[in-house]
Amino acid sequence: MGLVTYVDGRYVPKEEAVVSVFDHGFLYGDGVFEGIRAYHGRVFRLEEHLDRLYESAKTIMLEIPLPRAEMREAILETLRRNGLRDAYIRPVISRGVGDLGLDPRKCSRPTVVIIVDTIQLYPKEAYQRGLRTITATVRKVRPDMLNPRVKSLNYLNNILARIEANQAGVEEAIMLTADGYVCECSADNIFIVRGGEVWTAPPFLGILQGVTRDAVLGLARELGFPTVERVFTLHDIYTADECFLTGTGAEVGPVVEVDGRSIGDGRPGRITTRLLAAFHEMARREGTPMYPAEARGAPA
Ligand code: PMP
Repeated sequence: MGLVTYVDGRYVPKEEAVVSVFDHGFLYGDGVFEGIRAYHGRVFRLEEHLDRLYESAKTIMLEIPLPRAEMREAILETLRRNGLRDAYIRPVISRGVGDLGLDPRKCSRPTVVIIVDTIQLYPKEAYQRGLRTITATVRKVRPDMLNPRVKSLNYLNNILARIEANQAGVEEAIMLTADGYVCECSADNIFIVRGGEVWTAPPFLGILQGVTRDAVLGLARELGFPTVERVFTLHDIYTADECFLTGTGAEVGPVVEVDGRSIGDGRPGRITTRLLAAFHEMARREGTPMYPAEARGAPA
């Protein structure tokens, strides 16, 4: 399919969607991005993703050349032009073209790209049997060095963890903080269920504060499960009743094996399965319509 990408105000075919080799996003990973989903013609939690995008940019002193309303509209227009009602959306804002020095003052205008594509999920079978994970030897970058709450173009720390998962032949890698506490996965947040309580790591530990994570915390409360944001260790995971990960791509992914230990009874947990169903239900219901005429609640 000939997908169209937004590049600096123009909608161009995939083959023409290119940026300069002098772009500091390419040279230094200097930039920010988001990963967003559209379900049934509605963009899930678009405002939360825009908040995170603009907050990430603010911390790295990158001024996004589009006001928020125009960015929102450009995202919706890119979806409409591609005719995709279920999609993955990737806005990327880099520092822009400069010279070979890393000084951002050399870059006069940030580059803005919006890519939309169909999404490649974990196979359905992985949700039925559950995901397998290992703990990566590479630790999360400490939040006082480069705060992982900034969703920046520097993903090498996470990519190294992902390589470890690949080498081990499992789907995801759990990453610990420098102090050895459970932080998050290479591209997902992590949760455990113990005695009916739903636990996840608090943002100060240096997680990316996932939009799916926040949605799932809300759903768990609505379903009557106490939620706890707390610091925990691998021991808590190995001995948990259930474990799952959350992310825009993964949604709610049951984890049944961590470092060779089977979690709970080794099958996707009961609360995890309820949360995944509730998440799908919410994604169908909520969201910013791609076509404004499609009022909330109208058939999609
Ligand atoms: N942690 C990391 C490191 C991620 O890259 C992602 C994916 N954006 C997540 C967590 C999950 O965040 P979200 O639910 O917003 O996709």
